[in-house]
Amino acid sequence: MVEDHRHCIVCGKPTAPDVFFCSPSCEEIFKRGQRRAIRYRNLTLILFVVILVMFVAAYIIRAGP
Ligand SMILES: [Zn+2]
Repeated sequence: MVEDHRHCIVCGKPTAPDVFFCSPSCEEIFKRGQRRAIRYRNLTLILFVVILVMFVAAYIIRAGP
């Protein structure tokens, strides 16, 4: 027999079918992780842009008069 329930996406404990977390502390842990992921993605994007600008600048300097 399979009960209709989810598992907490942080710790894996069974939860009610309409919630993602078993407790507010697990929700907080998840949100913190998400914020870190967003920051990491922004950092990667900035790094990519910086490298691109450096390549373009190097090309312009070399191709210059
Ligand atoms: Zn949990």
